[in-house]
Amino acid sequence: MKFLNLINKNLFFHELTHFILSLLSGLFVWLIFRDWRLLPVAILFGFFIDVDHLFDYLNWSRGSLKLSEFFTPRLYVRGSKKVFVPLHGWEFLPFVWIFGRIIGLKIGISGFQWAASLAYFTHMSWDQITVNPNTLGYFFIYRLINNFKMKSFNGKK
Ligand SMILES: [Zn+2]
Repeated sequence: MKFLNLINKNLFFHELTHFILSLLSGLFVWLIFRDWRLLPVAILFGFFIDVDHLFDYLNWSRGSLKLSEFFTPRLYVRGSKKVFVPLHGWEFLPFVWIFGRIIGLKIGISGFQWAASLAYFTHMSWDQITVNPNTLGYFFIYRLINNFKMKSFNGKK
């Protein structure tokens, strides 16, 4: 698989796990609400939220984009000594639910809020366990007040 050459093996399995956990979240909520559209909703909120790494990458690369670099997060995290990941925040979880509820009602998908928030929860949990930063590292407000410093994210002042 050519893609595997581009993407580091650990990152590949990390993201694969996000994908599987999102799929399982979607399937679980589908069992209750019986709407197949909950699967893409879960994948969007449990897998694609990692697109926010693009923000960290572009901040470091000053706008240029090389996929091989983008798929090597340690390069730009260590390079810039910053961790932004603006879509990652434990405090966003209730807002994901509220947003999901509003959108779900608007477009007529019941269970949207549960698929979105459960998948988001699995994403944040897997990152919290595997990346293992400071306990507060995955709170956006904590990163903001510490100026997104990698040291604060890791818990070393
Ligand atoms: Zn993530």
